[in-house]
Amino acid sequence: MDSLYATLLADTRFHDLLLACDRDLADECRAEGCELCGGRLHSARYPRKPRGRGCRLGPEHDQRFSFCCAVDGCRSRDTPPSLRFLGRKVYVAVIVVLIAMLQHGATASRMERLSDVVRVDRRTIARWRKWWREAFTATPFWQLARAAFMPPVDQGQLPATLIDRFTGDDADRLIALLRFIGPVTGGADMQAR
Ligand SMILES: [Zn+2]
Repeated sequence: MDSLYATLLADTRFHDLLLACDRDLADECRAEGCELCGGRLHSARYPRKPRGRGCRLGPEHDQRFSFCCAVDGCRSRDTPPSLRFLGRKVYVAVIVVLIAMLQHGATASRMERLSDVVRVDRRTIARWRKWWREAFTATPFWQLARAAFMPPVDQGQLPATLIDRFTGDDADRLIALLRFIGPVTGGADMQAR
């Protein structure tokens, strides 16, 4: 499993696909207008240089889509969901999913190989596992969404138990999972830290 994912991470087409998904989500967000006043939104992207991508990518990959309301006195910021950036985390979202997932059922040597490839230290990995177990499961999004799964998803084994609920090949399931958790990746408060 780890080598499959390592191949995916090194594939620029995979990252281009995630970027295209983010563009669509940004277009939808912009079309809806300001959440507070309905005003027009102006582009207010901010630079991000996420770690763990495994290949060289163009500068268009180093920006997070975000908007700012054009109405004086409002100017509220609206950050659409993203398949690439998980809140303020410094690693790409896909790494936060994969590393946490491979912890479960993965052998120690496999884990070491993967964390070597993306150079994630053990403290960071422990923090992500805690985020999945505690912060993610406490979000209003998950509190509602989990009811749709039958049988219930084992929350102690997240995100491995969640990705199993999606169909398709590895890339398909990964993208489906990233899309699914979209609501916790953006918004005004960006809960994912
Ligand atoms: Zn506004």
